[in-house]
Amino acid sequence: MGKKFAIALGSNLGSTAGGPAQTLAAALHALATEGMALRRVSRFFATPCFPAGAGPDYVNACAVLSAEEDARAVLDCLHRIEAAFDRERKARWGSRTLDLDLLTFGEAVLPDRETFAHWQALPLETQMQATPDRLIVPHPRLHERAFVLVPLADVAADWRHPVLGRTVRQMRDALPDDLTRDVVAL
Ligand code: ATP
Ligand code: CA
Ligand code: CA
Repeated sequence: MGKKFAIALGSNLGSTAGGPAQTLAAALHALATEGMALRRVSRFFATPCFPAGAGPDYVNACAVLSAEEDARAVLDCLHRIEAAFDRERKARWGSRTLDLDLLTFGEAVLPDRETFAHWQALPLETQMQATPDRLIVPHPRLHERAFVLVPLADVAADWRHPVLGRTVRQMRDALPDDLTRDVVAL
């Protein structure tokens, strides 16, 4: 059966597969052909660009999958699929054809709690400059992002954050209403 994990998908530019929603659908298909078993897929949501004004709005979704590989191999696979859909890395948080983030990997905290805590506590300004060269799991910003928590609640509402101790539903409900209101099912 393998290890269960959740990913976030996002796109605000077209790719060879078509527009953002078609790109996400094609990426899910590509994951399945790479040996990642697709267990649950959220609805697709339209969400405002973050940071505001930096580009077109996004389509976001989340999925739960399982695989035999470890977390690092899963991230490498996500990066290969991003590249296959024309992902270019220019500006940090710039517009992109496809972004695939590893949100959770079972109950794992990677590489360790200290490193997770460091990235989680970084002020926004620093986050915008610094990119982790190591895999950090859970994704260090998942708990504060409506465009992650709203779709994730579709597929893993009862998953409990191993460091923060709260479920996805609780984290989503703790967000300000004006943030969750901006995440609209397609
Ligand atoms: P954010 O991570 O804030 O959502 P981003 O997705 O725009 O920003 P990227 O440029 O796609 O950031 O990724 C930066 C680096 O983060 C990647 O090279 C990757 O190795 C690293 N990384 C560390 N932890 C994770 C994770 N859990 N999921 C995806 N990438 C991660
Ligand atoms: Ca991301
Ligand atoms: Ca990413």
